[in-house]
Amino acid sequence: MDLRTATAPPAQPAPPPAIPPSAGKSVLHDVEQTQLAIELIGLGARLQVLESALSLPRVRLVRLYKELRGASPPKGMLPFSTDWFVTWRPNAHASMLLNAYRFMRDAGGLAGIRAVLSGYRVYREQLSVTGETAELSFTRAWTLVRFHENGMLQLARCRHCAGDYVVHAHGPRRHYVCGLCMPPARAGKGRKSPARTVP
Ligand SMILES: [Zn+2]
Repeated sequence: MDLRTATAPPAQPAPPPAIPPSAGKSVLHDVEQTQLAIELIGLGARLQVLESALSLPRVRLVRLYKELRGASPPKGMLPFSTDWFVTWRPNAHASMLLNAYRFMRDAGGLAGIRAVLSGYRVYREQLSVTGETAELSFTRAWTLVRFHENGMLQLARCRHCAGDYVVHAHGPRRHYVCGLCMPPARAGKGRKSPARTVP
C-alpha cells in the first residue's frame, strides 16, 4: 500500500458541535436588550415603553423593574395625547427632543429605541447647561417620537427664528411662527392673543 497515493486531501475539520450560531447571537442580543432595559428603567421609562421597545419577556422586564426601582411598575395606560406636545411650554421641550431624535436617526444612523435614547440624552444635556427642569420624561419623549413616526405630529419651521417646532400634522405650516417668537398673551395684558399662524 502506497501511502503517498492513499493520502487524501486533509479533511475539513468538523465544525464544533457546540452552540448553533443563532443561539450565540440570541445570547448577545439578550444581554444587549437587558442593558437597554436597565438604562431605560434608570431613566424612568414606563413598563409599556419597555414592552413595546424591547424583545424581552414581560416577566423579565417586571422583575428588572422591581429590582431597580424597588417597586412594582405603575399600572394603567400612558395618559398622553398629541395636544400636550403643542401647548406652549412643553412645545419648546418637545421640539428640542424631536430635533435631537431626528438628528440621531438621520445623521447618527440609529434606529428605534436607540435613537430615542440618544436624542433624550442630548435633550437632557442641553437642559443641564441652562439648569432648566426637564418637561419631558423619557416616557413622554418616547410617546412623542411614536406620534411623529405615526404621522400625527410633525415639525414646522418658524419664519422668524427658523427653528423647527412640533405641530399637529396637517396643520398650516407655511407661515408658522413659534411660541418663543410669539408667546401667548399673559394675564393682564389684554385678551387678544396673536394668531400663531396666518392662513
Ligand atoms: Zn420662532
